Amino acid sequence: MTQEIGFIGLGNMGQPMVMNLLKAGFKVKVYNRTPEKAKEVVAAGAIQVNQLADVAEPGGVVITMVSNDQALEEIVFHEKGFGKKLTHGGIHLSMSTVAPETSRKLAAFHQEQGSYYVASPVFGRPEAAAEQKLFILSSGRNEAKLRVTPIQEALGQRIFDIGEEPGNANVIKLGGNFMIMAAMEAMTESFNLAEKNGIDRELAAEIYASTLFNCTVYNGYGSMIGKRNFEPAGFKLALGLKDCNLVLEEANAKQNPMPIASLLHDTLLASVAKGRENQDWSALSRIASENAGLE
Ligand code: NAP
Repeated sequence: MTQEIGFIGLGNMGQPMVMNLLKAGFKVKVYNRTPEKAKEVVAAGAIQVNQLADVAEPGGVVITMVSNDQALEEIVFHEKGFGKKLTHGGIHLSMSTVAPETSRKLAAFHQEQGSYYVASPVFGRPEAAAEQKLFILSSGRNEAKLRVTPIQEALGQRIFDIGEEPGNANVIKLGGNFMIMAAMEAMTESFNLAEKNGIDRELAAEIYASTLFNCTVYNGYGSMIGKRNFEPAGFKLALGLKDCNLVLEEANAKQNPMPIASLLHDTLLASVAKGRENQDWSALSRIASENAGLE
């Protein structure tokens, strides 16, 4: 029998993810706050529902890919949310980047309802999502993780099990996003140094990314920062600021000083203050360039 999955959040990430679920043969019921964004996935076979709770069936699986912690809590806890409908061993597969504490709170709530919560944030931008190349982290109860494995396999290239503590997948995700931000800032400062010496910054980007720093982050973001190509946004700068705030909250809670995250927070905040929230988060590099007199 074809398995039915509910999916909430058809943004930059959600849309290509639903496409892959459909390709893998799942029946997908979708909800998006702005209904027009469902057009393409509906044309590909998804079933659109107009009420949040209608994505969920007792015992079923609901994937969420909304922006942030507030949105996630709203779609679960709101009186019209799906949280209380997902009973009888149903699973909430929560793929947004949120605070570990939010995952712990949601896991406790779902347990009270007789359902499960699996935190499953991802590494990879919309292009990677479209190519089924996401790296998927997973934490939560083992029996629930086992049941969602075929769904995760339809979305990504590798799944990492981070144990049963529900917030731990989010801890790994936040640490990874912090390293991307730090790399973007470091690349920008080096490219600017090259430019100030009359060297083509795109050549600098290419040399670093094809020698000592030959990896996805330096290749992808190096090229964007080298070319100063920040639109359209694959990952909005406003979401980057959200993640930096989550990193600092967790650092604070665990008394783990992260001075570079504090610096990046101010850089992202200044970028939002300058109206760049809808540019790609690699546009955080514009602040260092402005400080160097290069914009
Ligand atoms: P996005 O394009 O901004 O989409 C956000 C989605 O959340 C939209 O469907 C939006 O609905 C929905 N939403 C926001 N607030 C809501 C609310 N209060 N109630 C119901 N729905 C709400 O974001 P995205 O880039 O797809 O990112 C989604 C999540 O994945 C975020 O947590 C992000 O940090 C994470 N992530 C993103 C990337 C990336 O490269 N983009 C990579 C890895 C992880 P509307 O359409 O109505 O606005």
